[in-house]
Amino acid sequence: MKNAGNPKTVFGEPPRIDIETGVLIIGAGACGLTAALHAAGTGAEVIVVERDASPSGSTSMSSGFVPAPATRYQQAIGVSDDTPERFEADIQAKTKHRALPHLASLASRNIGPAVEWLGKHAGIEWIVLEGFLYPGHSRHRMHAVKEKTGAALIAGLLSATQARDIPLVTDAWCSTLYAGTDGRILAAAIQRPDGAEEIIAAKSIVLACNGYGGSREAIARHIPEMAGGLYYGHEGNTGDAIAWGEQLGAQLAHLGAYQGHGSLAHPHGILISWALMMEGGLQVNLEGRRFSNENEGYSEQAVHVLAQPQGVAWNIYDERIHQFALGFPDYCEAVAAKAIHSAPDAASLAAATGLPETQLVETLAQAARLAAGGAGITDEFGRDFTVKPALTPPYHAVKVTGALFHTQGGLVIGGDARVLRADGTALPNLFAGGGAACGVSGPDVSGYLSGNGLLTAIAFGWIAGREAARQALQG
Ligand SMILES: Cc1cc2nc3c(=O)[nH]c(=O)nc-3n(C[C@H](O)[C@H](O)[C@H](O)COP(=O)(O)OP(=O)(O)OC[C@H]3O[C@@H](n4cnc5c(N)ncnc54)[C@H](O)[C@@H]3O)c2cc1C
Repeated sequence: MKNAGNPKTVFGEPPRIDIETGVLIIGAGACGLTAALHAAGTGAEVIVVERDASPSGSTSMSSGFVPAPATRYQQAIGVSDDTPERFEADIQAKTKHRALPHLASLASRNIGPAVEWLGKHAGIEWIVLEGFLYPGHSRHRMHAVKEKTGAALIAGLLSATQARDIPLVTDAWCSTLYAGTDGRILAAAIQRPDGAEEIIAAKSIVLACNGYGGSREAIARHIPEMAGGLYYGHEGNTGDAIAWGEQLGAQLAHLGAYQGHGSLAHPHGILISWALMMEGGLQVNLEGRRFSNENEGYSEQAVHVLAQPQGVAWNIYDERIHQFALGFPDYCEAVAAKAIHSAPDAASLAAATGLPETQLVETLAQAARLAAGGAGITDEFGRDFTVKPALTPPYHAVKVTGALFHTQGGLVIGGDARVLRADGTALPNLFAGGGAACGVSGPDVSGYLSGNGLLTAIAFGWIAGREAARQALQG
């Protein structure tokens, strides 16, 4: 990776100023671009700096699914009883009420308006995914662009940024913040791949440079259970916002929180949507045995899968679910990569996958008994199989492993997205959102509700852009 190092804060005036702007945004993922668009829309002069030659971030690797309540897009598919309060309750239920309350409230109240704003002012054409609910969501509220990929989402945000003539400086790693003794950020230095440095003075700064998934050292410190695991997010997210936060005396929280995923095709490294599990699929280990309640959530499932022999599992499902899954671009990629094994019955599936036949046949038979319901029949892991049809032959299977997708802990922000100090007061002109900020997933892997990543990237980025612009315009 080009452009990397230890970010630092220098307390004092910068040696010179090369460029001046109103709002400086560090990072060009969903958070940074949403912030840029809203700041420009509020009337401020904006510059975005991005470490990579071509902006992509974890956003472009994502499925691009954004949960939002009470939007016109939701109403268009007949969901008219969703509210920010209901969404907040779902967020908090998933974390067992351990998300910071003011952040859960801020995210759930602002994501709907932010999504609608991007629809109106940035030309993002949202649809709402129908047909299945992600674990923990009580309403259909997952928004996506029609391609259903993060790459298409970032392309849409980039084209809106270009249409507004917002300067986006690429190959520009922000290495240094210059700060006054009161914590006011005066300027930031960016480093070019050839070592050249430019200093940009700004009235307000937005940290949109995600978390620390790309730093093995930080993972070992904060998330030891994933130290040996695969990181499947953007390598350039090396924890720079957290380093600056520590240097500036900012409040950091929930650094052990992260989004894992228990369904990455192995060894192909292609995301297999958890929708397959929610539709009735199940996971077995190399012994052909189930080992968890697959409907709890895909994030904590990363840990469960990695705890199995060889750190892998097989997703097993049927033709109905296979046809449904073909609606996901990632799944089609897995089919093309020949990651999916198909067989007319359980015995042939055992032969195709190398799973022990007797145990696999028994596991599928037991799942069928559970799906049929009846008094006294319960799943030892607590899953309710009666909510979906029983699996029927022919079967399909894909070998998967667990991975770390992105970190969820970070800088605690206030209601205006300004970064808070340890004593709860706000740093004067430093804002944060997305993976740079503390998320709404509580302190560990189990609290990640599907979509929490882009939720805070877009909601907090939207607030940060507006408020940073207001501050810049006030001078
Ligand atoms: C495979 C996968 C699937 C996912 N699917 C979903 C999903 O469907 N829904 C969901 O909500 N979340 C999903 N996520 C999580 C989601 O991608 C992230 O939470 C979200 O993209 C974070 O956005 P961001 O703008 O904060 O960070 P990013 O999109 O990662 O952008 C940060 C940018 O900052 C740049 N940067 C870093 N440091 C510096 C620096 N010092 N100077 C300049 N630039 C810097 C980086 O190069 C990067 O471009 C998924 C993640 C993965 C990996």
